[in-house]
Amino acid sequence: MRAAEPSDLLTDSIRASGLKVTVPRLAVLRALDQAPHSTAERLFTAVRAELPGTSLQAVYGVLAAFTGAGIARKIEPAGSPALFERRVGDNHHHIVCTRCSAVHDVDCAVGEAPCLRPADASGFAVHTAEVTYWGLCPGCQAAMASSSSPLSALIPPTNKGAR
Ligand SMILES: [Zn+2]
Ligand SMILES: [Zn+2]
Repeated sequence: MRAAEPSDLLTDSIRASGLKVTVPRLAVLRALDQAPHSTAERLFTAVRAELPGTSLQAVYGVLAAFTGAGIARKIEPAGSPALFERRVGDNHHHIVCTRCSAVHDVDCAVGEAPCLRPADASGFAVHTAEVTYWGLCPGCQAAMASSSSPLSALIPPTNKGAR
């Protein structure tokens, strides 16, 4: 977990986006700052500790306002609920663990959208290329290596113990 950004900076960033600064918006942005790539439910849990009267619906409303105003980005990896983050505008990509669903940022080599150009866009004016890398995170690689991993099932039984 990163050090919390001071409230006045969070307030500035809400104001700079053109939104009115409210207590719930400040609380959601703070939660998002501390835990990037969070689901609305996870942010709701964090915000509710601070503002017991908050509803999940209110958090969804704040997140919709944030993504609309461009101060939060919504990503939706296949098979995952929508995730939110504050890192916007740099066209970065994501790498997702297929085992534990951990999400990390991957810098975009180009830095602007679209960073991939299709050989044939079928006449479309392409504005974005969204890249999701899938793999095993370091923790899951270690877990797979130390436990009786499903990977060992890939070795034909006749070869087992032959060495
Ligand atoms: Zn993992
Ligand atoms: Zn990200």
